[in-house]
Amino acid sequence: MVKLRDGLGFSKTSSVSRKSLTSLTDYFSSLLPSHDQVEFSHESQRANRGTSRENQGDRARKCLRIAETFSSRQGEGKLTGTTSFFIRTSGCNLRCWFCDTPYASWSPKGDKYSVDDLVKAARDIDATHVVLTGGEPMLPKESVLLCQALRAAGLHVTIETAGTIDRSIECDLLSISPKFRSSTPDANEHPNWARLHEQRRLPVDVMKRLIERAPDCQLKFVVDSPDDYDELMSIVRAVDVVASDVWIMPQGSTIEALDKAIEWLKPWCEANDFTYCDRMQIRWFGNRRGT
Ligand code: SF4
Repeated sequence: MVKLRDGLGFSKTSSVSRKSLTSLTDYFSSLLPSHDQVEFSHESQRANRGTSRENQGDRARKCLRIAETFSSRQGEGKLTGTTSFFIRTSGCNLRCWFCDTPYASWSPKGDKYSVDDLVKAARDIDATHVVLTGGEPMLPKESVLLCQALRAAGLHVTIETAGTIDRSIECDLLSISPKFRSSTPDANEHPNWARLHEQRRLPVDVMKRLIERAPDCQLKFVVDSPDDYDELMSIVRAVDVVASDVWIMPQGSTIEALDKAIEWLKPWCEANDFTYCDRMQIRWFGNRRGT
C-alpha cells in the first residue's frame, strides 16, 4: 500500500539554520550557474567528490530550497508504478504556461533543508527509490551533493529535469523533459519570461552531454497538440536517442483531458515506436500536490 504524505513530511524545526532570503531575485541569481551551464570535466567531477570529511560537513551545511517531499508511486516513464520518495526543489529557470507545479516555478515556495535532512527523510521511510524533481532540480548546485549522498546511502536516484543546465551530477536514471516552443508563456502577459524561456528551453548540446554521462536516460515530452510533432521529431534526431527511450504524454491535468488525448496521440506514438505515457498519477490520485 502506498503511504502518502502531504507537505514536507519531516520536521520544519531543523537544526540547520535557514538563511533569510532578501529577495527571490537574489536567491535565483545565487543559484544560476554562469550561462546556465557548468562545464563538465573529470577534474570538476573529482572536485565535486572532495574528501569524505569535507563532504560530511558540506552535507550538514549545504541547503536546498524544497517545495515539498512526499512518498508516492512514480506515474510516468520507465519506472511507472515504483514507490518512490519525491524531493521537489523550488525554483525554475523556465516558465511553461501550463506548469502544474507553479509553487516550484511561477511562485516558488518552500524552506531550506540540508542534504543530511533530505537523506534522513528518505531513509526514515525506508525508501529504495528517490525522484529529484522540481521546479528545475539542476538549478541549485547543492543538488550535486544531495544526489551523491542519496546514492551513497544505497538509494536509486532519478533526476527529472528540463535538460537546460549542465552539471556533473550522479544519478541512476536521467529523465529529460525538453520543452517545445508551444510551452512558452504569453509574450504580452509575461514579456520577460517569454524571452528567457525561449532563450533557455532547448540547448541541444547540453542535453547531449547530460545523456552521454547518464547510466540510463529517458526523454519525456508533454505534447499539447499535433502541432508539436515536427519539433518533437527534430529534438529526438538532434539529441540522438533511440525510440525506446522516448516517452510521450499529453498536456492535461484531468482524466477527461487524458482520455481525449489518447485518441489522437497514442496511435501517433505507436506509429513512431515511441511509448505513450499516460500520466498515471492523475488517474490514481487526481491533480493534487503530494502525488
Ligand atoms: S520546466 Fe517544469 S517546473 Fe519549470 S515551468 Fe516548465 S513545467 Fe514548470
